[in-house]
Amino acid sequence: MREFAWGDVSVYVAGHNGLVGSAIVRALEAAGVGRIVGWRSSELDLTDRDAAMDAVRDAAPDIVIDAAARVGGIMANSTYPVEFMRDNLLIQTNVMDAAHAADVDRLLFLGSSCIYPRHATQPIRESSLMTGPLEPTNQAYALAKISGIFYIEAFRTQYGRHWISAMPTNLYGPRDNFDLQTSHVLPAFIRRFHEAKVAGAPSVTVWGTGAPRREFLHVDDLAQAALTLLQKYDSAETINVGLGDDLPIKELAEPVASVVGFEGTIEWDTSKPDGMPRKMLDTTRINDLGWSPTIKLRDGVASTYEWYVENVA
Ligand code: GDP
Repeated sequence: MREFAWGDVSVYVAGHNGLVGSAIVRALEAAGVGRIVGWRSSELDLTDRDAAMDAVRDAAPDIVIDAAARVGGIMANSTYPVEFMRDNLLIQTNVMDAAHAADVDRLLFLGSSCIYPRHATQPIRESSLMTGPLEPTNQAYALAKISGIFYIEAFRTQYGRHWISAMPTNLYGPRDNFDLQTSHVLPAFIRRFHEAKVAGAPSVTVWGTGAPRREFLHVDDLAQAALTLLQKYDSAETINVGLGDDLPIKELAEPVASVVGFEGTIEWDTSKPDGMPRKMLDTTRINDLGWSPTIKLRDGVASTYEWYVENVA
């Protein structure tokens, strides 16, 4: 694989305005990238194949990073499996086909740790992929992402493309989705605790039992991982991006409540689903490439809360 200097390349970031894409744009700018290309979903609908093909051909990027996806928390995923499967299959297939037509030799496809079997051995190694049944609350999304991993492999096998995929753990940071029906747990906690504090409410109700364990990676750490992988990783096998360190959802409530300044009690609505019991990633492979996360949970929550107060609340 050819090495390159960031200053010499142009990069198309699909999903450049979202949680992940905007963090990648910040990291690319800091690395002095030659040119960044991106379109908001209002400008380019990536489920529209012809539009995607035309846009990528005209932009002629050297590298494509696919951070465009329909994403959401446990309720959105389990309530709208049709949209989660269809939109993700369409977006990723169109982005990859467009990149191939534009002769892009370096592409990074981003998925999520929910691709792994519900009962995978923890910490989850990349080799666990396709070894057992998926977690039902997000299997539509997971199956779309698994298809993307194998589509990458197909392009490598059939056309010799140096394309790769990476699977991050649960992400959070500025520009996250704070809608309580569709968000993930960390932004939901920020919003629920903030609104309860402002209203002077004595308690807040959150979902499930609090027993499932999750790890939380700040998107700026993920963005650094993405840049490292584009320079150093070249394999059909997907690669995990995580912390290798998780905590029960119950223990996430404490640091978030303390950052927000909510001092009331927390009630658990056990009629809501818990989802996957645990999905802690084994990160040996990416650590061996020289990447490891740097942002501590409490600091990341504090800066994300600041962003929420300024931009959403
Ligand atoms: P998951 O990692 O795909 O399961 O996605 P989520 O981030 O949506 O949920 C993680 C865990 O947090 C699940 O066990 C949820 O039941 C739990 N949880 C607790 N309160 C909330 C909440 O207010 N919103 C969300 N999305 N999840 C919550």
